[in-house]
Amino acid sequence: VPLKRQLSDQMKKQLSGIAFELLYSIGKEADTLGMRAYLIGGMVRDLLMNRKNEDMDIVIEGDGILLAEHLLEKHGGQIRSHEEFRTATWKHPSGFKIDLTSARTEYYDFPAALPKVELSTIKEDLYRRDFTINAMGICLHQEEFGDLIDYFYGYEDLTHQRIKVLYNLSFVEDPTRILRGLRFENRFNFQMDEQTEALAKESANNLLSVSKQRISSELWRLLFEENPVLGMNRLESLGLMPFLLKKRVDSETAQKRYTRLHHSILSLTKQGIYPDRSIWISYLLSYIPIEEPDWSEVESYCLSKQEIKLLGDIHQIIHEKPLSKISPSQSLGDIHEQYSDIELGALLTYSSFCVSSDFDVIEYLHARERLVRKVNGGDLKKVGLKPGPHFRHLLLEAEKIQLNYPEYTKEDILAKIL
Ligand code: ATP
Repeated sequence: VPLKRQLSDQMKKQLSGIAFELLYSIGKEADTLGMRAYLIGGMVRDLLMNRKNEDMDIVIEGDGILLAEHLLEKHGGQIRSHEEFRTATWKHPSGFKIDLTSARTEYYDFPAALPKVELSTIKEDLYRRDFTINAMGICLHQEEFGDLIDYFYGYEDLTHQRIKVLYNLSFVEDPTRILRGLRFENRFNFQMDEQTEALAKESANNLLSVSKQRISSELWRLLFEENPVLGMNRLESLGLMPFLLKKRVDSETAQKRYTRLHHSILSLTKQGIYPDRSIWISYLLSYIPIEEPDWSEVESYCLSKQEIKLLGDIHQIIHEKPLSKISPSQSLGDIHEQYSDIELGALLTYSSFCVSSDFDVIEYLHARERLVRKVNGGDLKKVGLKPGPHFRHLLLEAEKIQLNYPEYTKEDILAKIL
């Protein structure tokens, strides 16, 4: 029997007053309805690790929607319900969004299919989770408020920094859990235990039967962690890459590219310049043979608009604006003329391919991203110009001049472009 642990003092100490109050009210309301409420998942894990996290996932032994309706009546806010799973999201007036889910058990008709669902107990609900460290709960109903529920020895794994699945078929049922495992390894500096790692390797080929959309929603989270190089190295060492991209350069080349990419990003972040989340695609692109790239494979990852723009920009650099054509005598302004609308991530990706060039991408990006524009559209209107498409051209001219002559005042620049 797992040790009994009481966490209400720690919850009080670590959570914001309002978060604590909310959890307490939810437990109390559940009590009056004869239900039991549990805080589960990432927030429990993070509470035990003293990490800030107030994303409340609540599981109810009982009807999540009914409880949400009562909470709404008492405390106000809004609810959105999903009848099928008897689940509701309650938006509290303070802004907190809380998922109230009816405890359920899932079973699979065949591996990698979407699960079928039945209402059940907290133990069964926790059993369908990815790893023992994520399969703990905290009681919220009054009598046992703050008691840790830990059927699968998650606490022990947490203290031993272990990522461990709950049962052997876990990765076969949902291969995206492998990617989730790498994310937690990476974020907490944990390690899969030997058996979990062996199961991950054995079930890697099951990734082929998962929709690209599900893969991409885990992959971007893995590669948007603080050190994506560790994540990439693990994708390699577990032999996952062949199931993520078919046409690839050799591992050594890819590793050089993504390490270079990471270094460039670090030198920008040190200066306060951060790439947006679409940068995860750049890590994946380290594997692309750029002499004959097959974009369709990457595009199949259900990309966002921003990510599609990144790919388009890389394509444009390769075919229309190779960096190797830039001569050392070109000024920053001239370079800006060509690359002003090219995404930062695209320039970083292309230069990580190490296509030789005298052009210092970091220097340009630093100057561009840090540019505080002295002339804007309002200034053009003030001197009597009518807004129109020509504004874009004039503003780009102003940026070029400012990059070349940082000492110029607004008036100097206006005098040059008008
Ligand atoms: P993060 O801190 O990155 O948000 P998290 O642990 O909160 O991490 P989520 O993806 O938000 O992760 O998932 C919430 C919880 O749902 C997890 O803690 C885990 O228990 C469960 N979960 C999520 N995805 C899966 C999955 N594919 N298989 C099993 N359980 C999952």
